[in-house]
Amino acid sequence: MKKILITGGAGFIGSHVVRRFVKFHPDYHIYNLDALTYAGNLENIKDIEHEPNYTFVKGDIVDAAFIDQLFSENDFHGVVHLAAESHVDRSITDPMSFVMTNVVGTVNLLNAAKQAWKEDFSNRRFYHVSTDEVYGELHDPGTFFVETNKYDPRSPYSASKASSDHFVRAYHNTYKLPVVISNCSNNYGPNHFPEKLIPLMIHNIIQQKPLPVYGKGENIRDWLFVEDHAIAIDVIFHDGVNGETYNIGGHNEWKNIDLVLLLCSIMDRKLGREAGETEKLITYVTDRAGHDLRYAIDATKLSEELGWKPSLQFAEGLERTVDWYLNNQEWLNNVTSGNYQKYYNEMYSDR
Ligand code: NAD
Repeated sequence: MKKILITGGAGFIGSHVVRRFVKFHPDYHIYNLDALTYAGNLENIKDIEHEPNYTFVKGDIVDAAFIDQLFSENDFHGVVHLAAESHVDRSITDPMSFVMTNVVGTVNLLNAAKQAWKEDFSNRRFYHVSTDEVYGELHDPGTFFVETNKYDPRSPYSASKASSDHFVRAYHNTYKLPVVISNCSNNYGPNHFPEKLIPLMIHNIIQQKPLPVYGKGENIRDWLFVEDHAIAIDVIFHDGVNGETYNIGGHNEWKNIDLVLLLCSIMDRKLGREAGETEKLITYVTDRAGHDLRYAIDATKLSEELGWKPSLQFAEGLERTVDWYLNNQEWLNNVTSGNYQKYYNEMYSDR
């Protein structure tokens, strides 16, 4: 049985990737390595914790000695690397933790793989999961990020991810490590931590709290259902070409304010509130420092070369997402208490 290491598998996207690999690849044994930071939650993968081809390993990718030991004890055939600090607002208040996890942690994994695989790279793969935010921001409608865009990261988060992407490419170029990278647009769906736009709004709507919208809500993001991202990762992990980068996106751009209004109307209907009642909660707040205006992905390479396309329409994905949060309010309550609650109070004290 091939051993595959997935990092960050207790987080939002990682949990969907772990579930998919455990269920669809019974010939793999999946090792889920996660430090269980505020964003990691084993509840996200409770349904598969007893599967025979699944093992959870608690550990920090910043700890090089631990990572080296893990690789020496296990002959991993592949790595799917998702562990990261992922929230732009947190990167603005604490950039160093992003340098440590996203840059140093990634280099620790690259070193461990290089050392353990001893230059016999046949049937090995190091897959680095990244973001479209490394490309900077777009202004002109009709322009999209393609894989050959130059990098122009503009937040500490995107700078740390860009740096890690460069290290991954450098290990391919210098040591011939068999790597693939993907850069994806904003994900949404179940298990999304409620500091990010969609789950934050759903949570606040349920609680009838103000709905903080940055600036005038004009910023535009492309949204992809998280399970479609997990499928894309599966496809790229198996069929992608070493050294290549693949953009992943939903071709589904929304201005933040339009998305919040849409969520308000869905929630009015689901909660039996009067039409237009929820949108009264919208509160415009001081814009995020250096807030990128627009991200939009051209995923043509992935669809033409590897045959991947998003499977779910946005309307259906949002319905499923809202239903999941309504049916999992205990999950919401648990993750919004404790550490997260403290952070939430600090970050949103004026909202
Ligand atoms: P997340 O914050 O929900 O989860 C991150 C996971 O990594 C958590 O389980 C956390 O405990 C773990 N982790 C953090 N630091 C760690 C460390 N030092 N050692 C081990 N584990 C650690 O993030 P997400 O939204 O699921 O994003 C996953 C990956 O996908 C990230 O690399 C992110 O940059 C990338 N990405 C995210 C999006 C998005 O919309 N969320 C879009 C494109 C790319």
